Amino acid sequence: MINNDNFSIINNGEKMAENIEIPVSVGPMNEGERVRGPDMQVELAGPKSYGFELVKVVDKASDEISIVGKDLDGMEEGSRTPFAVIVNVGGESLEEDLEGVLERRIHEIFNYIEGVMHLNQRDSVWIRISKDTYSKGLRLKHIGKVIQDIYKAEFPFIKHVDVKLITEPDIVKEELEKARKIYTDRDEKTKNLHEEDVDTFYGCIMCQSFAPTHVCVITPDKPALCGGINYFDARAAAKIDPEGPIFEVPKGECLDEKLGIYEGVNNIVQEKSGGAIKEFALHSVMDIPSTSCGCFEAITFYIPEVDGFGIVDRSYKGETPIGVPFSALAGQCSGGKQVEGFCGMSIAYMKSPKFFQADGGWNRVVWLPKELKEKVNDAIPEELKDKIATEEDISNITELQEFLKNKNHPVVENWGSMEEEVGMDEEEVEGEESYDEENEISVSTMSLHSGFGGLPSNVKIILKNATIKAEKIIIMKETEKPKKK
Ligand code: SF4
Ligand SMILES: [Zn+2]
Repeated sequence: MINNDNFSIINNGEKMAENIEIPVSVGPMNEGERVRGPDMQVELAGPKSYGFELVKVVDKASDEISIVGKDLDGMEEGSRTPFAVIVNVGGESLEEDLEGVLERRIHEIFNYIEGVMHLNQRDSVWIRISKDTYSKGLRLKHIGKVIQDIYKAEFPFIKHVDVKLITEPDIVKEELEKARKIYTDRDEKTKNLHEEDVDTFYGCIMCQSFAPTHVCVITPDKPALCGGINYFDARAAAKIDPEGPIFEVPKGECLDEKLGIYEGVNNIVQEKSGGAIKEFALHSVMDIPSTSCGCFEAITFYIPEVDGFGIVDRSYKGETPIGVPFSALAGQCSGGKQVEGFCGMSIAYMKSPKFFQADGGWNRVVWLPKELKEKVNDAIPEELKDKIATEEDISNITELQEFLKNKNHPVVENWGSMEEEVGMDEEEVEGEESYDEENEISVSTMSLHSGFGGLPSNVKIILKNATIKAEKIIIMKETEKPKKK
C-alpha cells in the first residue's frame, strides 16, 4: 500500500525531496489498537487541547507534505500539543460534496499506523502516538506520507494530494476557526431539502468493522450519527465509488411518516445487518430506533422519572442527571445495537425539523450540558429555552423534577397520565390494603435492570430474600400496550 516515490516535503518552510520509508507497519491489522496514558509519547489535539482535520477539494495540488511547527521529537514526552491536519486533494472528477466522506477516512488512515490512535472527527479529533512507535522513528512526515499514499491508492480519481500537519498553536487556532465555518456551511446545505423531496436515501456501513449490525441511513433530514457525513456528502460518495461502503437506499413506500419508517430502508437494513435488524424508525428514540455504532457525537436517553429525554455529547465529562457519564451510556447502546430509549446521533440532527419528531422532538428534551445547549441554541424553540435544565441547574433526578415543575416544562403535563401511557391500569387489585398497612413487600429473588439507580450498564444487581420498604406501594394491573401501526 505504501510506495516510496520521491515527493516534496516542506519542513517549516524548508523544501526538500525525500525518499521516505515508513518505520512501522501500516494496515487494517492495527485498527482498534489503543494507546493508554502510560504508553503515550505525545498526544495531539484531544479534549484537553484543540485541533481539527479537514479535507478540501482544490483545483491544483502538488503532492507536497508540509509540517508547520514542532515535529514529534521537539515535543516533551507525555505532553499534548494542538494539532491540525489539512488535506488538499485534486483530480478531475472530484466535487466539493466529497470532502466530508474523504475527511471521514482520515480516522481510518491514522488508525492503520502501528502505535497511533485516532478518535473522533472534525474539531473533536484526538490522537496519541505510542512510545514504542516513536522510538522506532515515526515522525510527522511519515504520517503525511501514509495519508497521501492511501488516498491515492484507495481513490483512483484523486490525482494529487497535499498534506499539511500543523502543531504551531497559534496557527492551529487560526485555521480552526476557518474549518469550523466550513463544517457549518456543509451542514447548512441540506436545510431546504427534506425526505419527502427525494426518492433515494443513502446508507453507510463503514463502522461494521467494529459494529457488525450497524447501518447508518442518511437522509436530507438526518445526517449520519458520526456527524461527518450529510446527505450531499453521501450522494457524492455513492456516485463516485458505487462499490464503496456508502450506497444508495431507494426510499420505497413511507410506512409511517412521523416515525420515519420506509419500506426501502427496512429492506436495506435487514440485508446489510445480516438479518439482525428487521426495521427501524429514523425519527424515534422509543420505538425501533436506529442502530448506534460507537462514533456518535451525542446520545439521547430516556429518563422515565420525568418522561423526557436527556442529551449528552461526547465532550461533556461530567455525570448526566441519571448519575452516569457519556461513556457509560455509550456502552449501553453502541456496537450496532438497537436499544429502545437510547439513540446515538449527530449534533446537526438536533437542528433538523424532524428531530425525534415521533417522540415529541424538543418538547420532550429536559436536560443538556450547558456547552451543548449554547451550541444548538438557535435550534431550540424560543419558549423552551429556559425550561431545559443543564448541569448548572440540577444534578439529580429529584432536582430535575423540581426544576421542570417550576418552569412548567411541557413534559409536566403528561406526568398525571404517565401510568396509563406505559400501559398501567390504575384499577386497584384486591388485597392492596394489606400491603398498604405494612408498606413492604418480600421477594425471594429479584433482578434489577441494567443502569438501575445510575449504575454502569455492565453491572447487574440480583436481590435475594429482599424486603422492599417504601413510603407507599401502589399495585396496578398491567394492561396491553396499544400497538403502533
Ligand atoms: S457512523 Fe455511520 S456514516 Fe459515519 S462512518 Fe460510521 S457507518 Fe458511516
Ligand atoms: Zn461509527
